[in-house]
Amino acid sequence: MDRAITRKWRPATRAVRGGTWRSEHGETSEALFLTSGYTYDDAQTVADRFAGEASGMTYSRLQNPTVAMLEERIALMEGAGACRAQASGMAAMTAALLCQVSAGDHVVAARAAFGSCRWLVDHLLPRFGIETTLVDSAIDAQWEAAIRPNTRVFFFETPANPTLDVVDIAFVCDLARAHGITTVVDNAFATAALQRPMEMGADVVAYSATKLMDGQGRVLAGAVCGSEQWINEVLLPFQRNTGPNLSPFNAWVVLKGLETLDLRARKQSANALELGRFLEPRVPRMLHPGLPSHPRHELAMRQMDAAGPIFAFDVESREKAFTILDALELIDISNNIGDARSLMCHPASTTHANMGAEARTEMGVTEGLLRINVGLEDVHDLIEDLDRALGKAGF
Ligand SMILES: *Cc1c(COP(=O)(O)O)cnc(C)c1O
Repeated sequence: MDRAITRKWRPATRAVRGGTWRSEHGETSEALFLTSGYTYDDAQTVADRFAGEASGMTYSRLQNPTVAMLEERIALMEGAGACRAQASGMAAMTAALLCQVSAGDHVVAARAAFGSCRWLVDHLLPRFGIETTLVDSAIDAQWEAAIRPNTRVFFFETPANPTLDVVDIAFVCDLARAHGITTVVDNAFATAALQRPMEMGADVVAYSATKLMDGQGRVLAGAVCGSEQWINEVLLPFQRNTGPNLSPFNAWVVLKGLETLDLRARKQSANALELGRFLEPRVPRMLHPGLPSHPRHELAMRQMDAAGPIFAFDVESREKAFTILDALELIDISNNIGDARSLMCHPASTTHANMGAEARTEMGVTEGLLRINVGLEDVHDLIEDLDRALGKAGF
């Protein structure tokens, strides 16, 4: 499809229609190209493709039509020049960081982050001589104070997993740009349906597409978006030679998921807000960017269309948290998020168990913290389930 036409589409249209390449059969749904290789009519054709002088597929570690459809759709939704899909969210984060840093560089990262993102910053990067500094990402002044002459990358997620810290995207991206620093934003909790960091100055947006994009808990997937030049010159040499590629089948599943992303993200956000309002007077501490009690509620509402399906609350102790989880009848105990099913987990013993107690305390992952992904069920059933479970824990 002509880019001039697709770029005029509004976001919900892009999510349904973007990147649809029809074969000669004119199929309505995207075709699934389960192929690792390609054949050519003559030797010169393949020579030209390998030389970069002709377009066309050569090998599925380099290009695949189904994966390319997904990449085009995500890039359009994000307002990015280009996108490349990866096998998982962590493959995407690893590629987005490692493709652009070298020994002697410095990375500033948000302290409040997904456990494996913290592992990259705390353990992997230092092993290759890359210095890292953690900041409290919701305190603007800490970003500026952390900058050194060799700072190359700012890396953060917002809202953050699982403490729901909200970063001022425009402020942090402006600051980075003024110092020649590249920003990498993990947008998994919101997706382009609710928050578009590139419109606020982000250079690179990286995804776990496993979460809201698939939206039905089926496949692992990831994506990295950036300018066409950055993707081609910085990410692609890394990705093509290290091979964290997404399988065409998983790309096809995520394409189907994106068709309903806008609907799901808004309905799940509305359900999460209603459930949050019910819970707030009942529990000791609420962490929900959609509620006025969140320290950055106004900022969150400025930079997001809705607060998203995920929030957290604190019930004082691991014992009470486990009592509530074990009493649930409808909501599943599960550490996944973004699913159409409501899922709840105890981050300190699951997603953030590996980082150790001290790091958990520093980033606010307390022993009584519960994180919930609110799904598409009738919110009254969810309220009844939590009401009963809270009662069993004495709330
Ligand atoms: C889940 C998650 C990831 C990792 O994604 P996978 O697809 O599980 O590899 C990264 N960042 C955030 C914020 C996440 O929630």
